Amino acid sequence: MTRIAHVNGRYLRHANAAVSIEDRGFQFADAVYEVCEIRDGELVDPTRHLDRLERSLRELRIRMPMSRAALLVVLKETARRNRVRDGSVYLQISRGQAPRDHAFPDPQLPPTVVVTAKPHDRAKGEAQAAKGIAVVTVPDNRWERVDIKSVGLLPNCLAKQAAVEAGAKEAWFVDADGFVTEGSSTNAWIVTRDGHLVTRPAEFGILRGITRTVLLEVAARLGLTVEERAFTPQEATEAAEAFITAATTLVMPVVSLDGRAIGDGRPGPTALALRQAFHASTERVPL
Ligand code: PMP
Repeated sequence: MTRIAHVNGRYLRHANAAVSIEDRGFQFADAVYEVCEIRDGELVDPTRHLDRLERSLRELRIRMPMSRAALLVVLKETARRNRVRDGSVYLQISRGQAPRDHAFPDPQLPPTVVVTAKPHDRAKGEAQAAKGIAVVTVPDNRWERVDIKSVGLLPNCLAKQAAVEAGAKEAWFVDADGFVTEGSSTNAWIVTRDGHLVTRPAEFGILRGITRTVLLEVAARLGLTVEERAFTPQEATEAAEAFITAATTLVMPVVSLDGRAIGDGRPGPTALALRQAFHASTERVPL
Protein backbone atom coordinates (compact mmCIF):
# COMPACT_ATOMS: atom_id res chain seq x y z
CA MET A 1 0.00 0.00 0.00
CA THR A 2 1.18 3.53 -0.75
CA ARG A 3 2.45 5.16 2.41
CA ILE A 4 1.39 8.75 2.97
CA ALA A 5 3.21 11.32 5.10
CA HIS A 6 2.06 14.69 6.31
CA VAL A 7 4.74 17.35 5.66
CA ASN A 8 4.02 20.97 6.57
CA GLY A 9 0.34 20.87 5.76
CA ARG A 10 0.43 18.51 2.77
CA TYR A 11 -0.26 14.81 2.48
CA LEU A 12 2.32 13.22 0.17
CA ARG A 13 3.46 9.79 -0.93
CA HIS A 14 6.64 8.89 0.96
CA ALA A 15 8.61 8.99 -2.30
CA ASN A 16 7.64 12.66 -2.70
CA ALA A 17 7.75 13.64 0.98
CA ALA A 18 10.85 15.65 1.90
CA VAL A 19 12.23 18.35 4.13
CA SER A 20 15.09 20.70 3.35
CA ILE A 21 18.73 19.63 3.72
CA GLU A 22 18.99 22.75 5.88
CA ASP A 23 16.28 21.64 8.22
CA ARG A 24 17.57 21.97 11.78
CA GLY A 25 16.21 18.55 12.60
CA PHE A 26 18.57 17.07 10.01
CA GLN A 27 21.50 19.39 10.77
CA PHE A 28 21.41 19.47 14.58
CA ALA A 29 18.73 17.03 15.80
CA ASP A 30 17.00 20.29 16.80
CA ALA A 31 13.60 18.64 16.89
CA VAL A 32 11.22 16.76 19.13
CA TYR A 33 8.91 13.84 18.50
CA GLU A 34 6.09 11.70 19.81
CA VAL A 35 4.92 8.18 19.02
CA CYS A 36 1.29 7.30 19.75
CA GLU A 37 -0.21 3.86 19.66
CA ILE A 38 -3.17 3.20 17.37
CA ARG A 39 -5.36 0.34 18.51
CA ASP A 40 -8.62 -0.88 17.01
CA GLY A 41 -8.79 2.25 14.87
CA GLU A 42 -8.38 4.58 17.85
CA LEU A 43 -5.58 6.88 18.93
CA VAL A 44 -4.35 5.94 22.41
CA ASP A 45 -3.67 8.65 24.99
CA PRO A 46 -3.45 11.64 22.61
CA THR A 47 -3.94 14.17 25.42
CA ARG A 48 -0.96 12.90 27.40
CA HIS A 49 1.21 12.72 24.26
CA LEU A 50 0.28 16.27 23.24
CA ASP A 51 0.94 17.49 26.80
CA ARG A 52 4.42 15.97 26.67
CA LEU A 53 5.00 17.33 23.17
CA GLU A 54 4.14 20.86 24.32
CA ARG A 55 6.48 20.47 27.27
CA SER A 56 9.37 19.28 25.04
CA LEU A 57 8.77 22.21 22.66
CA ARG A 58 8.64 24.69 25.55
CA GLU A 59 11.89 23.39 27.03
CA LEU A 60 13.61 23.91 23.65
CA ARG A 61 11.75 27.15 22.84
CA ILE A 62 10.37 25.74 19.60
CA ARG A 63 6.90 27.07 18.97
CA MET A 64 3.80 24.95 18.47
CA PRO A 65 3.31 24.84 14.69
CA MET A 66 -0.48 24.75 15.02
CA SER A 67 -3.13 24.35 17.69
CA ARG A 68 -3.43 21.09 19.63
CA ALA A 69 -6.79 20.50 17.98
CA ALA A 70 -5.23 20.90 14.52
CA LEU A 71 -2.34 18.58 15.42
CA LEU A 72 -4.79 15.97 16.62
CA VAL A 73 -6.60 16.19 13.27
CA VAL A 74 -3.29 15.69 11.43
CA LEU A 75 -2.38 12.66 13.56
CA LYS A 76 -5.76 11.06 12.94
CA GLU A 77 -5.82 11.94 9.25
CA THR A 78 -2.33 10.51 8.66
CA ALA A 79 -3.32 7.27 10.39
CA ARG A 80 -6.54 7.15 8.34
CA ARG A 81 -4.81 7.80 5.02
CA ASN A 82 -2.42 4.93 5.78
CA ARG A 83 -5.35 2.71 6.78
CA VAL A 84 -3.73 1.93 10.11
CA ARG A 85 -6.05 0.22 12.58
CA ASP A 86 -3.30 -1.20 14.80
CA GLY A 87 0.09 0.44 14.75
CA SER A 88 1.56 3.81 15.55
CA VAL A 89 1.66 7.39 14.41
CA TYR A 90 4.93 9.34 14.55
CA LEU A 91 5.11 13.13 14.84
CA GLN A 92 8.27 15.18 14.52
CA ILE A 93 8.53 18.95 14.91
CA SER A 94 11.84 20.68 14.19
CA ARG A 95 12.85 24.30 14.74
CA GLY A 96 12.61 24.76 10.98
CA GLN A 97 14.84 25.40 8.02
CA ALA A 98 17.65 27.98 7.99
CA PRO A 99 21.25 28.38 6.75
CA ARG A 100 23.39 26.22 9.02
CA ASP A 101 24.28 28.10 12.20
CA HIS A 102 24.23 26.64 15.69
CA ALA A 103 22.39 29.59 17.30
CA PHE A 104 18.63 29.78 16.92
CA PRO A 105 17.49 31.59 13.76
CA ASP A 106 16.34 35.14 14.49
CA PRO A 107 13.55 35.91 13.77
CA GLN A 108 11.94 32.57 14.59
CA LEU A 109 11.02 30.23 11.73
CA PRO A 110 7.93 28.22 11.06
CA PRO A 111 8.64 24.80 12.59
CA THR A 112 8.81 21.77 10.28
CA VAL A 113 6.06 19.21 10.87
CA VAL A 114 6.31 15.62 9.70
CA VAL A 115 3.77 12.92 10.55
CA THR A 116 3.94 9.28 9.43
CA ALA A 117 1.95 6.22 10.41
CA LYS A 118 2.62 2.53 10.18
CA PRO A 119 0.67 -0.61 10.94
CA HIS A 120 1.94 -3.34 13.20
CA ASP A 121 0.99 -6.94 13.67
CA ARG A 122 -0.66 -7.17 17.07
CA ALA A 123 -0.45 -10.98 17.10
CA LYS A 124 3.33 -10.68 16.74
CA GLY A 125 3.51 -8.37 19.77
CA GLU A 126 1.43 -10.79 21.80
CA ALA A 127 3.62 -13.72 20.73
CA GLN A 128 6.68 -11.74 21.78
CA ALA A 129 5.10 -10.93 25.15
CA ALA A 130 4.32 -14.61 25.71
CA LYS A 131 8.03 -15.39 25.23
CA GLY A 132 9.55 -12.33 26.85
CA ILE A 133 12.69 -10.55 25.72
CA ALA A 134 16.38 -10.51 26.57
CA VAL A 135 17.97 -7.23 27.68
CA VAL A 136 21.61 -6.20 27.98
CA THR A 137 23.08 -3.28 29.94
CA VAL A 138 25.19 -0.45 28.51
CA PRO A 139 26.69 2.64 30.19
CA ASP A 140 24.36 5.65 30.04
CA ASN A 141 26.36 8.16 28.00
CA ARG A 142 23.48 10.49 27.13
CA TRP A 143 23.09 14.20 27.92
CA GLU A 144 21.24 15.32 31.05
CA ARG A 145 18.07 16.45 29.30
CA VAL A 146 16.67 13.07 28.37
CA ASP A 147 13.38 14.30 29.87
CA ILE A 148 12.97 16.20 26.58
CA LYS A 149 11.78 13.88 23.82
CA SER A 150 14.30 15.13 21.27
CA VAL A 151 15.33 13.31 18.09
CA GLY A 152 18.96 13.34 19.31
CA LEU A 153 18.90 9.57 19.68
CA LEU A 154 22.41 8.50 18.62
CA PRO A 155 23.33 6.98 22.03
CA ASN A 156 19.96 5.21 21.99
CA CYS A 157 20.65 3.83 18.50
CA LEU A 158 24.10 2.61 19.57
CA ALA A 159 22.60 0.98 22.64
CA LYS A 160 19.87 -0.76 20.64
CA GLN A 161 22.43 -1.96 18.11
CA ALA A 162 24.57 -3.36 20.96
CA ALA A 163 21.47 -5.24 22.13
CA VAL A 164 20.77 -6.62 18.68
CA GLU A 165 24.40 -7.73 18.29
CA ALA A 166 24.15 -9.51 21.66
CA GLY A 167 21.00 -11.32 20.51
CA ALA A 168 18.79 -9.18 22.78
CA LYS A 169 15.82 -6.92 22.06
CA GLU A 170 16.54 -3.95 24.32
CA ALA A 171 19.44 -2.28 26.15
CA TRP A 172 19.12 -0.77 29.62
CA PHE A 173 21.28 2.26 30.31
CA VAL A 174 23.19 2.18 33.59
CA ASP A 175 24.25 5.48 35.20
CA ALA A 176 27.62 6.32 36.77
CA ASP A 177 26.33 5.17 40.19
CA GLY A 178 25.46 1.72 38.84
CA PHE A 179 21.69 2.19 38.64
CA VAL A 180 19.48 1.42 35.66
CA THR A 181 18.04 4.59 34.16
CA GLU A 182 15.81 3.32 31.32
CA GLY A 183 15.85 1.39 28.07
CA SER A 184 17.03 2.78 24.75
CA SER A 185 13.38 3.37 23.79
CA THR A 186 11.47 2.10 26.83
CA ASN A 187 11.14 2.56 30.59
CA ALA A 188 12.48 -0.16 32.88
CA TRP A 189 10.66 -1.92 35.73
CA ILE A 190 11.16 -4.82 38.10
CA VAL A 191 8.80 -6.73 40.39
CA THR A 192 10.38 -7.58 43.74
CA ARG A 193 9.96 -11.00 45.32
CA ASP A 194 7.32 -9.52 47.61
CA GLY A 195 5.37 -8.28 44.60
CA HIS A 196 6.21 -4.54 44.64
CA LEU A 197 6.69 -2.73 41.36
CA VAL A 198 9.90 -0.71 41.16
CA THR A 199 10.64 1.93 38.56
CA ARG A 200 12.95 4.91 38.56
CA PRO A 201 11.45 8.31 39.44
CA ALA A 202 10.93 10.45 36.35
CA GLU A 203 12.29 13.66 37.87
CA PHE A 204 15.76 13.18 36.41
CA GLY A 205 17.66 10.85 34.08
CA ILE A 206 14.76 9.31 32.16
CA LEU A 207 11.94 10.18 29.82
CA ARG A 208 8.58 10.29 31.59
CA GLY A 209 6.98 7.59 29.45
CA ILE A 210 3.27 7.91 28.86
CA THR A 211 2.95 4.13 29.20
CA ARG A 212 4.82 4.40 32.51
CA THR A 213 2.44 7.11 33.75
CA VAL A 214 -0.65 5.15 32.76
CA LEU A 215 0.78 1.97 34.26
CA LEU A 216 1.18 3.68 37.63
CA GLU A 217 -2.62 4.18 37.52
CA VAL A 218 -3.17 0.58 36.44
CA ALA A 219 -1.00 -0.65 39.31
CA ALA A 220 -3.01 1.42 41.79
CA ARG A 221 -6.24 0.03 40.33
CA LEU A 222 -4.92 -3.53 40.76
CA GLY A 223 -3.87 -2.76 44.34
CA LEU A 224 -0.16 -3.16 43.64
CA THR A 225 2.45 -1.26 45.63
CA VAL A 226 4.82 0.88 43.58
CA GLU A 227 8.23 2.06 44.74
CA GLU A 228 9.55 4.89 42.58
CA ARG A 229 13.27 4.41 43.12
CA ALA A 230 16.32 3.41 41.16
CA PHE A 231 17.45 -0.25 41.03
CA THR A 232 20.68 -1.94 39.95
CA PRO A 233 21.12 -4.66 37.32
CA GLN A 234 22.02 -6.98 40.22
CA GLU A 235 18.67 -6.29 41.91
CA ALA A 236 16.93 -6.89 38.57
CA THR A 237 18.50 -10.32 38.11
CA GLU A 238 17.47 -11.23 41.68
CA ALA A 239 13.92 -9.87 41.18
CA ALA A 240 10.82 -11.99 40.60
CA GLU A 241 10.11 -10.30 37.27
CA ALA A 242 11.17 -7.47 35.04
CA PHE A 243 9.54 -5.68 32.15
CA ILE A 244 9.75 -2.65 29.90
CA THR A 245 7.09 -0.17 28.81
CA ALA A 246 6.57 2.01 25.76
CA ALA A 247 3.68 3.05 23.53
CA THR A 248 4.67 0.52 20.87
CA THR A 249 5.89 -2.42 23.00
CA LEU A 250 3.29 -1.86 25.77
CA VAL A 251 4.18 -3.95 28.84
CA MET A 252 6.83 -6.37 27.58
CA PRO A 253 8.24 -8.99 29.97
CA VAL A 254 12.03 -9.20 30.31
CA VAL A 255 13.27 -12.74 30.93
CA SER A 256 17.02 -12.20 31.03
CA LEU A 257 19.50 -9.44 31.74
CA ASP A 258 23.07 -9.72 30.41
CA GLY A 259 22.45 -13.43 29.86
CA ARG A 260 21.24 -14.12 33.43
CA ALA A 261 17.68 -15.39 33.79
CA ILE A 262 15.20 -13.25 35.71
CA GLY A 263 12.82 -15.24 37.92
CA ASP A 264 12.26 -18.60 36.27
CA GLY A 265 13.31 -17.21 32.88
CA ARG A 266 9.74 -16.86 31.68
CA PRO A 267 7.35 -13.90 31.54
CA GLY A 268 6.00 -13.22 35.02
CA PRO A 269 2.32 -13.14 36.03
CA THR A 270 2.45 -9.51 37.18
CA ALA A 271 3.85 -8.24 33.89
CA LEU A 272 1.31 -10.24 31.92
CA ALA A 273 -1.57 -9.05 34.14
CA LEU A 274 -0.45 -5.44 33.72
CA ARG A 275 -0.23 -5.89 29.95
CA GLN A 276 -3.75 -7.32 29.96
CA ALA A 277 -5.17 -4.55 32.17
CA PHE A 278 -3.33 -1.67 30.51
CA HIS A 279 -5.80 -0.38 27.94
CA ALA A 280 -8.66 -0.04 30.40
CA SER A 281 -6.82 3.01 31.79
CA THR A 282 -6.04 4.71 28.48
CA GLU A 283 -7.81 7.54 26.71
CA ARG A 284 -9.11 6.47 23.29
CA VAL A 285 -10.05 8.77 20.44
CA PRO A 286 -11.53 7.32 17.23
CA LEU A 287 -9.58 8.13 14.03
N1 PMP B 1 12.29 6.10 27.28
C1 PMP B 1 12.78 6.38 26.07
C2 PMP B 1 14.21 6.77 25.93
C3 PMP B 1 11.93 6.31 24.93
O1 PMP B 1 12.41 6.62 23.72
C4 PMP B 1 10.59 5.90 25.09
C5 PMP B 1 9.66 5.75 23.91
N2 PMP B 1 9.51 6.89 23.16
C6 PMP B 1 10.12 5.62 26.39
C7 PMP B 1 11.00 5.73 27.45
C8 PMP B 1 8.71 5.21 26.63
O2 PMP B 1 7.84 6.28 26.45
P1 PMP B 1 6.31 6.08 26.06
O3 PMP B 1 5.72 5.16 27.09
O4 PMP B 1 5.73 7.44 26.10
O5 PMP B 1 6.29 5.47 24.69
